[in-house]
Amino acid sequence: MRLVVDLNKCQGYAQCAFLAPDVFAMHGEESLIYNPRADEEQRERLARAVAACPVQAITADGLDGAADPADGAADGASREASDGR
Ligand code: SF4
Repeated sequence: MRLVVDLNKCQGYAQCAFLAPDVFAMHGEESLIYNPRADEEQRERLARAVAACPVQAITADGLDGAADPADGAADGASREASDGR
């Protein structure tokens, strides 16, 4: 996943570094360093960091696939032949 932090917006609140420490880290008191190509396994943490950033400075590609593939299990194909005689 690719991500970009708009460092002009970033205020160094460190929410992202707290929520996704493998992707974001504070360098000194105010500057943020981050991995612009986060691993797939960081998806959930990254999504939380994006949502938590108070100034919406984080933009990430590929977070929209957040839906669980675990829906649409039954497709209603249950047949019941009851010829009650
Ligand atoms: S949460 Fe947002 S403002 Fe805070 S350090 Fe991260 S990118 Fe910057």
